[in-house]
Amino acid sequence: MASDNTSIFRDDLLRGQVGLITGGGSGIGLGISELLASLGMHVVIASRKPEHFDTARDRILAAGGSVSSVALDVRDVERVRAVVDDVSNTHGRLDLLVNNAAGNFYAPSATLSPNAWKAVVEIDLYGTFHCSQAVYPVMKAQGGGRIVSASMTLHYRGWPQMAHATAAKAGVDALTRTLAVEWAPERIRVNAIAPGPIPTEGVRKAFTPPADSGIPDRFAAADARMDAYAQERIPLGRWGTPADIAQMVAYLASPAGDWITGSIFVVDGGEWLARQ
Ligand code: NAP
Repeated sequence: MASDNTSIFRDDLLRGQVGLITGGGSGIGLGISELLASLGMHVVIASRKPEHFDTARDRILAAGGSVSSVALDVRDVERVRAVVDDVSNTHGRLDLLVNNAAGNFYAPSATLSPNAWKAVVEIDLYGTFHCSQAVYPVMKAQGGGRIVSASMTLHYRGWPQMAHATAAKAGVDALTRTLAVEWAPERIRVNAIAPGPIPTEGVRKAFTPPADSGIPDRFAAADARMDAYAQERIPLGRWGTPADIAQMVAYLASPAGDWITGSIFVVDGGEWLARQ
């Protein structure tokens, strides 16, 4: 099965493993699902919209991967538990959880509505906790497992009009470190990846600031002069791709990740260090 940049990994590296990828039907999540399936993992794609999870499932099936899909809102803790039980009963194991689902948009903190705050924090932070807690008994019973959560870098220095997402992802970082220590005796490795700017459709929509906000629209600038923008603002001179993040997930899911837990890997071409 073809996938971007898979050449460093053996084709059957993850054969026999089962992974649950939240938000695995679009953007970065789709890149993760495709790479893991190309390495032999059975991938379960979980999100809210069939146009994401079913379309992605069909695409991976057509490419020869082993994949299934399921409707899931990570805010619904009972549904999260039911999905995890179903995966575990169907496949007899669950080796990897990727907490990739997120919601986001620009909004001034002074007028951010309680519902808007709640929606983002519940998807990004609560969803990560609900899914991690649900897989714990399955991974414990089978002698171990891996959890990889999507974080970000915007909270390292602050990012105006992103109070909800930056607060939630800071919470994801804290959760990663705490669960890593708490669940190490069960051999559950818990790590996170903080991607730099990757112009997925979802992020282009969400990160387009209001025209009158005075905040630079990074992706509009990129459309107009893609190469110049990346060379000015991203030390490694290009935008990220879903495959860049997927490679790190595959590494962490592989035996190479055996002694790695509680780490947050920045994969951003150096963007946050150089951010002005
Ligand atoms: P995206 O294009 O917005 O995709 C988000 C995914 O999450 C979608 O597949 C969506 O599917 C799913 N989702 C949203 N709400 C959900 C819910 N309540 N329950 C289950 N699934 C839900 O995002 P992305 O750009 O690929 O980013 C992926 C991850 O990387 C996110 O955690 C994001 O915060 C992080 N990240 C991205 C960037 C970037 O530049 N792209 C930078 C830093 C961090 P449905 O609509 O079908 O539910």
